[in-house]
Amino acid sequence: MNKTVCEENMCTGCGACVAVCNKKAITISDDMFHLNAVINNDLCINCGICQKVCLQQNNVEQNKPIKWYQGWCSIEKVRRFSASGGIAWAIGKKFIEDGGVVCSCSFSDGAFKFEICDNIEELQKFSGSKYVKSNPVGIHREINKKLKAGVPVLFVGLPCQAEGVRRSIPEKYRDKLMTVDLICHGTPSRLFLKKYLSEHEIILEKLKHLSFRSKNGFALNEGKMIGHPGVMDRYSIAFLNSLSYTENCYKCKFACKCRSSDITIGDSWGTDLVCEAGKGVSLILCQSEKGCNLIENSQIELHDVDLKRAITNNPQLSRASLQPKNWDAFVKEINDGKNIDKTVFKYLKYRCLKQIVKKQLLRLHLLRK
Ligand SMILES: Cc1cc2nc3c(=O)[nH]c(=O)nc-3n(C[C@H](O)[C@H](O)[C@H](O)COP(=O)(O)OP(=O)(O)OC[C@H]3O[C@@H](n4cnc5c(N)ncnc54)[C@H](O)[C@@H]3O)c2cc1C
Repeated sequence: MNKTVCEENMCTGCGACVAVCNKKAITISDDMFHLNAVINNDLCINCGICQKVCLQQNNVEQNKPIKWYQGWCSIEKVRRFSASGGIAWAIGKKFIEDGGVVCSCSFSDGAFKFEICDNIEELQKFSGSKYVKSNPVGIHREINKKLKAGVPVLFVGLPCQAEGVRRSIPEKYRDKLMTVDLICHGTPSRLFLKKYLSEHEIILEKLKHLSFRSKNGFALNEGKMIGHPGVMDRYSIAFLNSLSYTENCYKCKFACKCRSSDITIGDSWGTDLVCEAGKGVSLILCQSEKGCNLIENSQIELHDVDLKRAITNNPQLSRASLQPKNWDAFVKEINDGKNIDKTVFKYLKYRCLKQIVKKQLLRLHLLRK
């Protein structure tokens, strides 16, 4: 039987081991609720480099934030098309202006893949939160090439992905690499999203546009929305209630205040800037001096934030999402081919009923969106 790089079913899919294996012996498998970095025994020469680079097999150096802010991009349009305050776009722009490139996640042809961008006009393709596991495999070598050529790289991704990139890059190039991680709840597999969409007669690979969240609410759409405007769909209910993540997410080692990236961005939940809340206010933590410089010199309106209050309102800064007691049973039903809408209703009845009532009230004009 083939071995896995880290403990079975605990792989984050960061792809660092795939990048450093010169024998091309490792592939990432995805069974909808578990990822595994599988080693091909016929190709493996037991050099151990994959184990060395694996973030699950090693301690991760986590640093305390040295500065923290809340804020938003001062260009209104950017704030509108971003999921939160448009910080990712604003720092990307400054980084490119200073001669670097940005590497982040975009959606095309049904894939959530990483790309390198050196053009401010094209930065928008990264904007928006994709509430699904993206795939960084293959991008490490591209980043490496840029760094080797002396071009600074800003990587923006999930915390495990940012750490995977950092670990896969030779130390001598790391000073030109800047990493930004998102505060992250956890992520469902792309296969779970694909199944959900197919049950709504939508083929993921044929979608041109997919939006998981807009300032008007939390929805999944392709021009038309799935479900009723203002009413949360079952994919989103499962996501927000931590029911649909791959198993490793419930043991996430990055869900704490200390982080391994230069910058961490998320939502400033519970912000005291009440009038701004609906437009998108981001929480920003800087763990390094170069991170602080980038934040302070980008087009961002920065405000003080009470860090204690921010952490209280953002549980992912103190612990990983809790694995529901009935997670195994849910996984079994989905793997057995049960319909996602119906199964989510069965496991999160109260949350789903609330949305059904909301839909009726909206229809009767007794409630506004
Ligand atoms: C799966 C997920 C869970 C999250 N959970 C929380 C949470 O619990 N609490 C919280 O405060 N914030 C959370 N966020 C972060 C939040 O949604 C915003 O992305 C963040 O506040 C930055 O907003 P922005 O307006 O600056 O940029 P955005 O417009 O949101 O752009 C964010 C950047 O992240 C990249 N990105 C988006 N989705 C992915 C993905 N799936 N994989 C890799 N990179 C991606 C984009 O390419 C872009 O560069 C989560 C984000 C994701 C993707």
